[in-house]
Amino acid sequence: MSTVYLNGEYVSKDQAFISVDDRGFLFGDGIYEVTSAYRGKLFRFDRHLARMKRGLSALRIDLDPSGLEEVHTRLLKENGLEDAPVAYVYLQITRGVAKRSHRFPASPVAPTVYMFAGQYTRPAREQWEQGYKAVTVNDVRWARRDLKTIQLLPNVLGAQASGDHGVDEIVFVQDGMAIEGSHNNFFMVFGETLVTHPLSNQILPGITREVVLELAGTLGYEVQERSVTVEEMFAADEAFHSGTLSEVKPCVEVDGRAIGDGRVGPVTRSLFDAFLAETGGTG
Ligand code: PLP
Repeated sequence: MSTVYLNGEYVSKDQAFISVDDRGFLFGDGIYEVTSAYRGKLFRFDRHLARMKRGLSALRIDLDPSGLEEVHTRLLKENGLEDAPVAYVYLQITRGVAKRSHRFPASPVAPTVYMFAGQYTRPAREQWEQGYKAVTVNDVRWARRDLKTIQLLPNVLGAQASGDHGVDEIVFVQDGMAIEGSHNNFFMVFGETLVTHPLSNQILPGITREVVLELAGTLGYEVQERSVTVEEMFAADEAFHSGTLSEVKPCVEVDGRAIGDGRVGPVTRSLFDAFLAETGGTG
């Protein structure tokens, strides 16, 4: 049984319980984070921490997560993942336990902090080289998708739609624009130009997105952060999703239509190779 962290304690997962009055359970009133670790080293933790702080502040949950870096590292150790090629730590912070009422608790309660670690098995390169397929899904999420809240029902339904269609991923479509995936950001490649939806309330500011943009600069690709219509997406030479547990994931088909020649392209491949180098070339 794995060891998890709950409210200051490291316990066996089967001994970790939360109250039915937890506002995360009742209202989805909280935030989460997923941080990857390459051979035990947390990747861009400062960026994840900054996103946590921003989310907690937007939700007005009074907790400074700065001390949780140690918990991340210890959870990896407790679960024998400090040497894993790729592992991750999941974190969830809710407003805490209080009698059910939409308003915040009248007297402040301690937020609930739950964390666990797991291993990520990167697909074999041959599988990655086949590329992945996606379907478009109408985006019905709320207007603060820039916050990593635990209210994920549209993402859950979207991800299920991909399963129902026998494909791997989705592309959320908002006002005719291809904006991001259900658990990752989305890039399109036109020639040697990389295009992705701009940061706004419409998408999550992905840490991997940011890393990909940096790597693109280093590799000499032009980068445009602008919206792209679905029609234009189908004219792209290449496309890929980016995310902590997606890394750089080539998308070769959307709604049964090939992107480019329907094969993984050179720009996606070079970005993935640069990403692997950036994360220590492990896995
Ligand atoms: N977009 C959405 C909707 C997500 O849920 C995620 C990650 O969970 C991302 C993008 C990618 O973010 P990151 O690269 O920080 O994992």
